Amino acid sequence: MTTLTRRTLLTWLGAGAAAGVPHVARAARPKVVVVGGGAGGATAARHLALDAALDADVTLVEPSRTYHTCFFSNLYLGGLRDYASIGHGYAGLASLDRLNVVHDRAHAVDTRARTVTLGGGARLRYDRLVLSPGIDLDYGSVPGYSVAGADVAPHAWKSGTQVQRLRALALAMKPGGTFVLVAPPDPSRCPPGPYERVSMLAHLFSTRNPRATIVVLDPKESFPKQALFQSAWEKHYPGMILWLPPSMSGGLTGIDLDTMSFRTPLETFTADAASVVPAQRAAVIAERAGLTDDSGWCPVVPATLESRMDGNVHVIGDAAIASAMPKSAFAANNQARAVADAVSRALRGHAPAEPGYANTCWSLLAPRDSVKIGAVYRAGADAIEPIRSFTSQLDESEQVRAATAREAEAWYDGIVRDMFG
Ligand code: FAD
Repeated sequence: MTTLTRRTLLTWLGAGAAAGVPHVARAARPKVVVVGGGAGGATAARHLALDAALDADVTLVEPSRTYHTCFFSNLYLGGLRDYASIGHGYAGLASLDRLNVVHDRAHAVDTRARTVTLGGGARLRYDRLVLSPGIDLDYGSVPGYSVAGADVAPHAWKSGTQVQRLRALALAMKPGGTFVLVAPPDPSRCPPGPYERVSMLAHLFSTRNPRATIVVLDPKESFPKQALFQSAWEKHYPGMILWLPPSMSGGLTGIDLDTMSFRTPLETFTADAASVVPAQRAAVIAERAGLTDDSGWCPVVPATLESRMDGNVHVIGDAAIASAMPKSAFAANNQARAVADAVSRALRGHAPAEPGYANTCWSLLAPRDSVKIGAVYRAGADAIEPIRSFTSQLDESEQVRAATAREAEAWYDGIVRDMFG
């Protein structure tokens, strides 16, 4: 038997039924489906549902019941936050009148029929679809790495429990042991993230395993905020971190997780614990929907974030090619607000507004020592272009760094409120 909730009944009958007046036929409410309840999707779904002028039926599809933020997961790794503090449920979103949260996985998208088929078999019709499914990992990009290998050397690069496993492995590492971190190539989620992870692991080791060493095998010759990270590593963790770009290591040629060996043409490193973060691409649902190009990511129109492959679909967050905007939660949240406005205008027959985009990425180097990088962008015809940028300076005082750390905490509280209410 079907159970009719009050909300379903109101949706069927229209608002007039609630007021006890005879039902008058009205235009169907537009249907918006949002796939992915992370930094981009949760924000977009919430803002769309709160849009009284649009008055749409919004459905958010997300398999997990708790979203553990990747952002600030490094602080958990370093022992500066507990795991529960980075976990957030969907009850606040589910309580919104125009929003239906469905805990399932989107299995397929038919852009011609404008439907999303869920893992459980249900089919959702949409007028507009917002896709924010994040990333999938290209395990084969590191020869010897695999899905099973992620239990031995966790990437912990997606929301979930892997970061708990990674912390446990780091804590269990033998005294004076070697931790190997394999960093990803560009483009990747959170470009400064691997180096914040190194900083937080070093913080953990400095208190619990002070003779430990961290070897970073990097496929890149440089990384964001590099001088800031490296000077902090010298200051807080002298002699603990060895960062090796390909010009110094010869490049990683393969790994063997049975022997925990990491081979380069010049040397084989034996690890006592490790984290491997392989190359990335848009989550598989984006490819299945035909929204990716040869790069594995989704090309979008800068002003509206509409897919270049289908105008009724918008792609936001890490899955999108947002040109100069990095793949960050800040950016995904920012794009989500822009896309909620773009969808609302399109469905009400209004011209799109010119969006303003911005991003800031904070990285914690040690307790009360944080640095940031960021920019403001405009939507050009072909690309999202930076118009102003800023970065922390090497010679900042401890007070400035501590204030930056507090700013990052305030940002975390704010974005989580904006996502989940
Ligand atoms: P996600 O937040 O990953 O959300 C995607 C959601 O889609 C997931 O919940 C997933 O379950 C769901 N999904 C996937 N496939 C399907 C499907 N088929 N059907 C339904 N749902 C699906 N960013 C910052 O701004 N600041 C930071 O300090 C920062 N630190 C980071 C540290 C680390 C270690 C890492 C790994 C990342 C960090 N980031 C940071 C980056 C940030 O986490 C991502 O950029 C952000 O989460 C991207 O948002 P998204 O919505 O694209 O993807």
